[in-house]
Parts: sequence; C-alpha cells; structure tokens
Amino acid sequence: MNAQPSSHVDAARLQRRHQALAAIGATAAGGVDRQALSAGDAQAMALLVQWGRERNFTAALDAVGNLFLRRPGSQPQQPAVLSGSHLDTQPGGGRFDGSYGVLAALEALEALEDAGLPCRRGIELVAWMNEEGSRFAPGMMGSAVLSGGRTLAETLAVADAAGVTVERALQQVKQALPPLDDRPFGTPVHAYVEAHIEQGPVLEQVGIPLGVVSGIQGKHTFRVEVRGEAAHAGTAPRRQRRDALLAATAMVQAMSAEFQDEADLTKFTVGRFTVFPNAPSVVPRQVSFSIDLRHPDSAVLRAASARVAAICAAARGPCEVQVERLVAADAVTFDAEIRARIHTAAERLGVTRLDLPSLAGHDAGLVSQVAPSGMIFIPCHLGITHHEQESAEMEHMVTGARVLADVLYGLAR
Ligand SMILES: [Zn+2]
Repeated sequence: MNAQPSSHVDAARLQRRHQALAAIGATAAGGVDRQALSAGDAQAMALLVQWGRERNFTAALDAVGNLFLRRPGSQPQQPAVLSGSHLDTQPGGGRFDGSYGVLAALEALEALEDAGLPCRRGIELVAWMNEEGSRFAPGMMGSAVLSGGRTLAETLAVADAAGVTVERALQQVKQALPPLDDRPFGTPVHAYVEAHIEQGPVLEQVGIPLGVVSGIQGKHTFRVEVRGEAAHAGTAPRRQRRDALLAATAMVQAMSAEFQDEADLTKFTVGRFTVFPNAPSVVPRQVSFSIDLRHPDSAVLRAASARVAAICAAARGPCEVQVERLVAADAVTFDAEIRARIHTAAERLGVTRLDLPSLAGHDAGLVSQVAPSGMIFIPCHLGITHHEQESAEMEHMVTGARVLADVLYGLAR
C-alpha cells in the first residue's frame, strides 16, 4: 500500500491546537463566544496564520474575509483542493462547531508535510467568514460570496445590532493580522471537503465514529400575515368576530398535521408568532408568524412548500391571509465521487461509517455549487450544539482527521 498521510496525524498536536483555539473567547461555562469578525475571531485567525507560517504555508485573505492557508503543489496552475470550516461561533457556542473542521484540515496539511508527501495540486485550508449569522445576518456569508450566491457589495454593507458594518469590522480584523496575500474571487477549486461535528445524535446513538454526509436538507421559509378585525372582548358577538389569532392557530394546526411523515423527516417549525394589538381584552386584528420547513429530499420539500398557501387559505375562516415565501433553498446532494473517496479512505483505515444527511446547513452546501464537495461527520455528544456543553471525543476527532488527510491526499496527489 502506498504511504498515506493518515499515519502522520498527531493526536497530541490536534488536542493542543484544539485547546489553544478554544481558549480564545472561552466562557466560564466551558464554551466559546467568538462571533464573526470580533476581536476574538481576529485573534483566532492570527493564530491560524501563525501555525501555517510555522510550516511555510502561505496565508491569504479574500475581499469578504475568508482566510486561506496554502500548501503549494508541484503544478501551481492546477486548481487546488480546499478543506476547512469556520472559526466564528454563536454567542454561547461550543468548542467544536466549525473549529473542528479548521483544525482537522490543518492537521491533514501538517501530516502531509511530516510524511514528506508532495502533491501535484495545492491544498488550501479555508476558514469561512461568518458561518453562524448571529452578529451579521444571514450566516454563511463568506462561502455565499465565494460561490456567487451573494454579492460582495451587499455583504460588506450588512450591519450588526450596533450599526457596525461587515466592511468596518473586516478592516479592524485586518489590523489585527499580519499583511496577507489577496486571494481573488473566481480562483478555481478542484474539490472541497469539510469535516464537522454531526450536530445531531445519530452517530453516537448507533456507535459509529464517522459519517459520510449524503447531502444537506433543504429549507424553505415563509412569513404569514393573517388579518382580521379588532373588537371588544366583552361586547363583540363571537359569531361576528374576525379573530386573527383563532385563524392563525387553525393554520398552524392544519400544517402541523399535514407535514408529518412516518420517518419524521419533514421538519415544520413556527418559531415566531406575533399578535396585534396583543392586549388581553381585544380580539386580535392581526397575527404574523414564521414557517421553517425542511426536508432532505428537494422534491418532497417543494411539494410541501407548494401546499402552504392553500392550507393557510383553507383554515383562514372569516380572516384574510397572505403567505410570502422568503427562502427556497433546495436540498443539496454531495458529489458521489467525493463520498466514494471518503468511504474508500475509511475502509482502508478500518473505520466503520454511516451514510447520513446533514440536518443543519453548512458552507459545503454553498461551495457545492462551484466545486465537487463532500463532508465528514464525527459524533457529537447527545447532539448538543450551539451550546457551551457541546462536546466531542478526541478519539473521534483524530479518526476524522485521519480520514480527511487521506481523502485530501487522494484528491491532490
Ligand atoms: Zn458549523
């Protein structure tokens, strides 16, 4: 068998780096608060650049703040292989979401160096700007701009709650970093592989250390406005009322019943529900609510999504209803060859694995629009994530990094 970089993955080094990164923005309860383009995010980026430079990897930043560390290939004109994730966290986030994929990619690059294995293609580690979307909304900004889903101008103009724009925050981040190369948009990418904690309980429950991600479930969102008429809660006869709340709750119940399936794959959530005037003795004249509808199969999702307006209309009673679809992100199916490469690399290492869809969104879903992409999952304790108690086993982190290293080598050699 040919030499593989997996045998040079260094568990102690990975653990040291994991601890050093988790210390930046560490919270008292053991989590991390390192929101996009914050001082902590800049510090994490600077540390990554320092680790890369210690191995002679070149560092570059693109105009939206995605950070790249490049291990050059022998044929620089060949598009590079990309791997990474994100350094930003939710305000009360954990130590693994995002940072694991960045560190696994770095470990893979270092293992290739230690093994002395040259590659035809360069391999680039990428830390995507603002995956989480908590400080600047929406999330996955960096990968959206790189893959052409959003423009640079509209992204730089987004402001946080304090009125600070992405553009301004990015300038501050750059001041905290050493001078870096510019990486132009449109730089071709040969393939992208992202390692991540599952953020769900499946792998842990079945006792399998590695997930080969089949794709990312699609998500459609809506805003529903129900209009009735305000009236006195004591004097208005009930038969004559146009109660927007009763109509809205009937719609929610009807959709909840309709969007169910045996395998529990259809996810239907009403997370925001606003009543006007929201006064105890006034019949509600208006209700606004949100719908978040998800499914791993685009055809099923689109069919369910297409029924939302009709179900709401059928349940409106004497009120009026307006349904607006805000997001229609279809499901992503990852590249078959990348998935096969992950299976093959794991097989060679004797690692059991499970094919499973990702129920959370990831940068890889957007990157898949411009390059063949795939993802590797490792188990996440109890599926707890976006939470300070988020946790993963070092043993699984090492297994994921070993598989990733061999997959990247196979794509780049
Ligand atoms: Zn993440």
